[in-house]
Order: sequence, then C-alpha cells, then structure tokens
Amino acid sequence: MAPAPLRDVVARHGLAPLKKLGQHFLFDRNLIGRIARAAAPLEHCDVLEVGPGPGGLTEALLDAGARRVVAVERDARCLAALADVAARYPGRLEVIAGDALAIDEAALFHAPAKIVANLPYNVATPLLLKWCRTPERWLGLTLMFQKEVADRLLAEPRSKDYGRLTVMVSWRFAAKRAFDVPAAAFVPPPKVTSTLVTLTPHPAGAVAPAAPDALEAVVRAAFGQRRKMLRSSLRSLGLDAARLLAETGIDPTARAEELTVADFAKLAQAYRAQVPY
Ligand code: SAM
Repeated sequence: MAPAPLRDVVARHGLAPLKKLGQHFLFDRNLIGRIARAAAPLEHCDVLEVGPGPGGLTEALLDAGARRVVAVERDARCLAALADVAARYPGRLEVIAGDALAIDEAALFHAPAKIVANLPYNVATPLLLKWCRTPERWLGLTLMFQKEVADRLLAEPRSKDYGRLTVMVSWRFAAKRAFDVPAAAFVPPPKVTSTLVTLTPHPAGAVAPAAPDALEAVVRAAFGQRRKMLRSSLRSLGLDAARLLAETGIDPTARAEELTVADFAKLAQAYRAQVPY
C-alpha cells in the first residue's frame, strides 16, 4: 500500500513544527527521493539518520535498499508515526528516542555505516564535529545544512568562508555540494536556502598526519584572531609561536585563512612536539 502523504501523517500525529527542535519538514517525496539517491549506493549499508521526524526520508532510505536504518529522534511526538514506518519494513528500522549529540554510535553499529539526515540546524555543526572525531566509523555522510554552513564546508583557502569548520572537516572528508533546496520546500520554510552536501572520508593514507586535539588547538588559536598574523594569533597557545612557525617553514606574517589543511597539520605536529600533553 502506498504510504500516506506526509502532510497527512504530520496532521494525524499532531506534529505542529517546533522551532526549538529545528523542525522544518519536507513533504515532497520526489525531493526526499533525490536526497536518498545522493547517498547511493545504500544496498548492504547500515544508515544513521538524525531527526527522522514524520519518517519521509527514513522510508526513502529503506526503499533505496538500506539494510538497516537507525533513526535518532528527540521529539517523542514523532514516535507513533515512526512505528508505522517500522511496521512496513519489518526488522529494518530501529528508532531511538533521544538526543543525537548524546548517543554512542559505537554501540549502535558494528561495521562502518552511512549517515543521511535533514539536520536540525541548531545542532548541525556540533553533530558534524562529533562525527569528524571518528571518521573510520563512516562510509559517507549526506547531510542537509543551511547554505551558509555548506559554503563554509566547501570553502577554499583565502576566502571569507574558510575557517575552523572547513579545516576540521576537510582534514577528514572530501566535501561536495549535491544540490540547493529552496526555503519554500520546507514546512515551515526557514529563512534561508539549504544545501545538501556529501562528505566522503579520505583514504587513510591521504590524511595529513596530526593528533586531532593538537589540530583543534592550533586551528582554534589561528582563526580565533583571523585578522592577525600567525606570529601573533598563535601566541594564545601559550608557547613560542615564532619557533613553531620557524620549525614548520610557515611564513610568520601569513594569516590563518592563507594556510592549507596540510599546513595546519604540520603546525599541529610541531605543537604536539612542544606540548606533548
Ligand atoms: N527528517 C524530517 C524531514 O526531512 O522532514 C525532519 C527534519 S527536521 C529539519 C529535524 C528533525 O530533527 C526534527 O524531527 C527534530 O525533532 C529532530 N531533532 C532536533 N534536535 C535533535 C537532536 N538533538 N537529536 C535528534 N533529533 C533531533
């Protein structure tokens, strides 16, 4: 039997969208199908979905052949609608009622999985940074962001959008714009355009070596004062910034936005050598 229109599902379960949960629902199953296709291939894959809401994307992922979908939803009002989806795909949908920021993904997946989500914008960045800490767990991420966040993920050095988020994410993943989605496609419409982004983990040998916490520290210090030269912005690390830059061969008068991800990785290694723990 064909699933009910999502507008009816939302009305039947009384899912009046809540701003505090970043609820902007998609009702157009063609558009939802395009999102699932951007994550292809899904056959034989386990998928983590954050914020399934009424379950439209969840269903599209299952239709696209996902072996198992684990959907984490914070709004208990959505659980009955999701139970209806689970009943149509026996044994393939596990719904977890809770906060995606707090879950332990290692306990949910025993093999690398994909993440696909129309993310709640208020927690999109902390969720992405959380997933970046365990890249080996993910085969690929297909995520809807506010366009402004997507622009930061896709930014090149020497541009205004290039910053901490760009470096921390592109150290681990290759980011690609899939397509933009106009605000009018969502209910209620957000204030801005959205962008679907795909993130593919770099092969292990292609990641510039660095300790994640050291990289986080140098990137935070450098972009914390992005208008300043590195010899001055890196002083907030509490060590000899001039020595750090001399050791890495990086121009002390350069600014954070001029450095590539590989430069930041070099700085992180030199920093770790000076401040082991
Ligand atoms: N997937 C649905 C769709 O495409 O129509 C809903 C997407 S809506 C943008 C974001 C969803 O994330 C909402 O269902 C909201 O309740 C849920 N959500 C918000 N914060 C969450 C969190 N911290 N953990 C899990 N789900 C959350």
